[in-house]
Amino acid sequence: MMLPYDMPPYRPPSEAYSVLIRATRGCPWNRCTFCGMYKDERFEIKPVESVKKDIDAARAFYGPNVKRVFIGDSNSLVMKPEDLAEVLRYLYEQFHAIERVTSYARAKTIRRRKLEDLKTLREAGLTRLHVGLETGDRELLAFIKKGATPEQMIEGGRKALEAGCELSLYVLLGIGGEDRSTQHALHTAEVLNAIDPHFIRVRTLVPYPGTPIFDQINEGIFTPASPKTLLKETLTLVENLNVRSEFLSDHISNLVDLNGKLPGDKPKMVAAMREIIAEIEEKPELLETYFKPRDYRCL
Ligand code: SF4
Repeated sequence: MMLPYDMPPYRPPSEAYSVLIRATRGCPWNRCTFCGMYKDERFEIKPVESVKKDIDAARAFYGPNVKRVFIGDSNSLVMKPEDLAEVLRYLYEQFHAIERVTSYARAKTIRRRKLEDLKTLREAGLTRLHVGLETGDRELLAFIKKGATPEQMIEGGRKALEAGCELSLYVLLGIGGEDRSTQHALHTAEVLNAIDPHFIRVRTLVPYPGTPIFDQINEGIFTPASPKTLLKETLTLVENLNVRSEFLSDHISNLVDLNGKLPGDKPKMVAAMREIIAEIEEKPELLETYFKPRDYRCL
């Protein structure tokens, strides 16, 4: 049986092989200036019984041996904790082999939740939260209307960790544009250092038509970062990280694939970035190598 689902379904690349179950629909915030997701969807929290029916349908379709589930849409933690816990318990009843259940969440929502509620969700089987940090820079967080300060990002991140969840934080390279790249990298590293999440995942800004940041580019308010600036920004970010996180460039928008476990792989990662930057400084025409694949990646 095919279930109605808004297309495309949004989920992290690391959840590509997870069964997608929606507890909510759309984004309750929906104001970030760079974001083109969920624009045609009116936000709703789905009734628990309706989510359970979707779980029944997923079991009928995929069988009982599902190992990974991603709960959509953009911030499942807005659901009442007792309702989300009921959904999680039902999931584990239907799929006995589950190893991982993850969800997107906003740092500000995590921060608002009681620690005991977050612990209950963890005990009910919520193993990992994917949270969009984007930047740790106060000015840029306000500029992109992320709706959270660096302090709130830190508080939300630490609370998720204290509850026992794995934490995956997303950084948006290029969101400082050409002018505020360095402050973006330095302040993002500061916030990441204060949280020390399990995963740091970088993406690169791709301004989509219809988003406010796309209009700001056309109006001359925002100058996108050049590839060279993006490479230097990545280097500055990694150089200033003092964490034990897994650093991943697991997104098609990135100029380079830079991955490693920090702090051990940091020297290797810094050396790789320095080498690339030195190479393009010597032969600027090599920038094309980085430009072209990205053009294809943005299709
Ligand atoms: S980035 Fe996330 S929180 Fe911001 S509008 Fe998009 S879906 Fe909502």
